[in-house]
Amino acid sequence: MINYLYQEQNWQTQLSNLVTDPAELLELLQLSPEQLLSGALLASKQFKLRVPRAFVGKMQLGNAFDPLLLQVLPHHLELEEHEGFVTDPLGEEQANQQPGVLHKYKSRFLLTLTGACAVHCRYCFRRHFPYQENLPKQDDWPNIRDYLVSQPDINEVILSGGDPLTLSDRKLQLWIERLESLPQIKFLRIHSRVPIVIPNRINDAFISILKNSRLRIILVVHSNHASELDDFTCSQLSKLVKEQITVLNQAVLLKGVNDSADVLVDLSYRLFDAGVMPYYLHVLDKVKGAHHFDRSPQDIDDIYKAVLANLPGYLVPKLVREIAGEKNKTPLFGVSTF
Ligand code: SF4
Repeated sequence: MINYLYQEQNWQTQLSNLVTDPAELLELLQLSPEQLLSGALLASKQFKLRVPRAFVGKMQLGNAFDPLLLQVLPHHLELEEHEGFVTDPLGEEQANQQPGVLHKYKSRFLLTLTGACAVHCRYCFRRHFPYQENLPKQDDWPNIRDYLVSQPDINEVILSGGDPLTLSDRKLQLWIERLESLPQIKFLRIHSRVPIVIPNRINDAFISILKNSRLRIILVVHSNHASELDDFTCSQLSKLVKEQITVLNQAVLLKGVNDSADVLVDLSYRLFDAGVMPYYLHVLDKVKGAHHFDRSPQDIDDIYKAVLANLPGYLVPKLVREIAGEKNKTPLFGVSTF
């Protein structure tokens, strides 16, 4: 492991000093640049490398197959075309009512306040999403508010990615206050990978915003492997749990990263150590460029059966697939349901 002292750096500094050059990443990990084929450089142009140094610090030196590295290092296989793997696998561009707004499910409403992420996950289903055309502007709030009021079934707003925790606390606070002004909104869900890749994002100011809101807040983090959850990260997550904030985890089943029952069982136990409950295990969304992370339905079924056999029920994440146009995520178990 690289001994980075990022625990002492504030999150904003870390966010402004990401590793964006694949050659630098390999050098930091003492890997040879030959590991980076020319196609990988092209892949990195299409979807740029972005990874916080704190996350690099959790990777194993000299291991080209480190499960954390594989999630972020551009790969020449991303350039291959595969049938069924498309740029918008969840049909989100159609569900986009107005900039920054996705209303796919009856009671839940998704707000995309930023297109920026602290880390670029190579398997991300939004890797081709045209964020720049889809972000709400300062004066879009009245339209968003009117839309929410016109849909009284909506009781929950989800801040999603890009990653909402790349926003300043001031901006987060502003949006939370706006949502609090609508009596119909009871729940606020924040989907973020930042607490895993820059654990210092969980600081007193952020905790205080969450604690003082009238909304019931659920933070859904995204961790795919127990190695992402070092002691410092777990202690940061525990701070939220101690303040009665519900913290859940969603993971994506990824070939080469966490496609074994042992790895998934370790992940669940490690999350539980931090007070975080496993929530979803997503089957890979068929996004163009991510085919090399895919496993067959039969393999997934076998892996999940072994997970079920090795964990108490409360630590088993729900295996789901999101299907464009469906009213909810589709639970999977048994090959026939794929
Ligand atoms: S942090 Fe989330 S939204 Fe951002 S690239 Fe990773 S999976 Fe996609």
